[in-house]
Amino acid sequence: MRGSWWCLLLAVACKKGDGDVTTEDTGPVYKDYPLAGDVVLDSVRINQGSERVLYLGPGVIGGGNYPPPVIAARPGRLTVEFSALDEALVEERDIAVVLSLSSGTELAAVGHLVPVESVFGGRPKVEFELPGSVLRAGMSMTVELHEAQNAATGTYTDETVWTSAEAGLDVVSSERVEVHLIPVMIQASTLAPDTTPTRVQEVADRMMSMYPTTGVDVIVEPSITWPNPIGPMTGWEALLGEISRMRTAANVPPNAYFYGVFKPAPSEAEFCAAGCILGLSNLPTSPSDDWAKSSIGVGFQEGDVMVETMLHEVGHAHGRLHSPCGGAAGPDPRYPYANATIGVEGWDADREVSFGSSDAFDVMGYCFPIWISDYTFTALYDRIDGVMARRSGQPTDWLLASVDGEGRVEPVGEVTQGPIPSDDVRTFEVLDDEDRVVDEVDGYFVPFDHLPGGLTLLPPDVGERLRLRQR
Ligand SMILES: [Zn+2]
Repeated sequence: MRGSWWCLLLAVACKKGDGDVTTEDTGPVYKDYPLAGDVVLDSVRINQGSERVLYLGPGVIGGGNYPPPVIAARPGRLTVEFSALDEALVEERDIAVVLSLSSGTELAAVGHLVPVESVFGGRPKVEFELPGSVLRAGMSMTVELHEAQNAATGTYTDETVWTSAEAGLDVVSSERVEVHLIPVMIQASTLAPDTTPTRVQEVADRMMSMYPTTGVDVIVEPSITWPNPIGPMTGWEALLGEISRMRTAANVPPNAYFYGVFKPAPSEAEFCAAGCILGLSNLPTSPSDDWAKSSIGVGFQEGDVMVETMLHEVGHAHGRLHSPCGGAAGPDPRYPYANATIGVEGWDADREVSFGSSDAFDVMGYCFPIWISDYTFTALYDRIDGVMARRSGQPTDWLLASVDGEGRVEPVGEVTQGPIPSDDVRTFEVLDDEDRVVDEVDGYFVPFDHLPGGLTLLPPDVGERLRLRQR
């Protein structure tokens, strides 16, 4: 690891790969040194859970099919790789990587440039760990390679500087996620799920590290007693129904996810001896299906089962289907990677572990170890973004109406709702007495599950125009 230095942001110490620690806070101002000669930038990547490539040099490959968003106010690890312009001519020496953020933060870290033979298996690289506070919506950044000694060396090329202003860094806002843990005591049993403070903190930390959020609040609600036994494959639906009912009755924001946790047997080994399910969730198709943001799962003390089940079930409650590994039912046909591998490098900031693109499996499948793909990370972000839009909307008056299988509309009554009641927008025709179309309006439609037709929200003033039909 001779060639690798890394440096924590704002820390006073930089650590060399071999373990040496030197004080750097009064170190040289590398930005004032000459730009590095005979050297090119190969890549700039940021990882806030799932890798996003910001820059790739000519001929450098990397990145996945679903570049994840860069999220404001969320910690990230920025990696810069560089290499010799011409390996035969390179002069082995230190190179300073200078990172400048438009928010005013300036950081530097030193990497060691060596002939290509010595870097077989990896280019020289440096890493910056960025606290969430320096990542802001609308920001830009510049990466420059400078000489680490104040003397020009070799031939300068313009591939030693990259600025996001040309490419657009596009840092976006996200939202906190609330998980309301409801301990469930099964009446005939004295077994309690694990809701100790240590476990609750672990839930918060691991979800924060995996989900594209700016924070996770885990709230332990008062426990409930459930009258029925729950077997390895039986009795789950009714409990999920009750947790969903509680979610609807509670005065909680749209980003609140209810999670009933229970201990149906003394251990997972005993419960699952002949096969079992470990969790169950609703699968809401729209960010406005608040009642459906509800799931249940086992709360065994041992191992990762409780936490990893929750990371998976709450993913379902964000509308995620299964990823195709380990026989998970109804897999998402659009999942982009075979065997539900994560597709790009993953980074678990909580446990300080990186996962290669093929070394871990997406949280929405049944293969282990789990991490999150760029596909799922991006999809979870899109859902969180949809929930935010709903949260920020002002309540609006609507006409609630039923629509039969032939498209005939019957008013039900007036309701008050946020502005995004459903993603399914349909066109309704306003008719005069002779069935001529005199106007068209949009309606937000939610289908029935076991009958044709559904319910729709319409602008309130159409109620006076009496006759409507779905186009
Ligand atoms: Zn599942």
